[in-house]
Amino acid sequence: MTRRKKIYEGKAKILYEGPEPGTLIQYFKDDATAFNAQKKAVLEGKGVINNRISEFIMTRLTTIGVHNHFIKRLSLREQLIREVEIIPLEVVCRNIAAGSIATRLGIPEGTQLPRSIVEFYYKKDELNDPLVSEEHVTAFNWANTQEIDDILATTLRVNDFLSGMFSAVGITLVDFKIEFGRIYEGDYCRVILADEISPDSCRLWDSITHEKLDKDRFRRDLGNVIESYTEVARRLGVMKEMPTVIQGGITGEPT
Ligand code: UDP
Repeated sequence: MTRRKKIYEGKAKILYEGPEPGTLIQYFKDDATAFNAQKKAVLEGKGVINNRISEFIMTRLTTIGVHNHFIKRLSLREQLIREVEIIPLEVVCRNIAAGSIATRLGIPEGTQLPRSIVEFYYKKDELNDPLVSEEHVTAFNWANTQEIDDILATTLRVNDFLSGMFSAVGITLVDFKIEFGRIYEGDYCRVILADEISPDSCRLWDSITHEKLDKDRFRRDLGNVIESYTEVARRLGVMKEMPTVIQGGITGEPT
């Protein structure tokens, strides 16, 4: 077995070169980090669950015409993706106040927002991913106005679709973060959805009890992190083999 060349290692994922030009392999680690990696842990099985949940969501988004980098799942922890030029923005969409908006604007957590709000954060760990405006995005050339329009429209579409999908299984989509990248086709360049969508990047609350089923369980030391991620996967109808993963501590290596 030849080891694939590592292209990039992030906090929760590793990118390896793919089998064909223009492709990469995205490997989901069990590492969990919060507060810009000041808090760290290994949550056994997290990578397997996030790989499956992200596959499920990206596949569904493809069916409604939201173009994204997902090609196919290769193994428990790996998926084949299209290589993109990442736009250095974290795009956050919020339906209910929680986390940083609750703190920044003094809105009690759980308050329904008057409408869905989309925010841009500049991806820069050294600066703690600061909140930026469209003015910053265009002035510093992180994205042009057409790309911003596409990103905003896609983000709201993803929000509508995911809100409905989660609502159908008794989960409220409070907020989420997505990322976009450019692909070049000849002279033509377009922006597609990239990265992952999982309980690491969404706030998901049980619709009735408001119990948190996402990364806030780790951030806030609420316990049962993997159990909650597994519950999300179970409700979505993926990961029927989950108990094996938790008990067996599967540590799939990149192929
Ligand atoms: N988020 C993320 N990665 C980040 C920062 C935020 O996936 O680096 C997600 C987070 O899980 C939540 C949403 O984006 O679903 C909004 O996060 P917020 O700005 O409230 O920041 P936090 O309180 O999580 O630091």
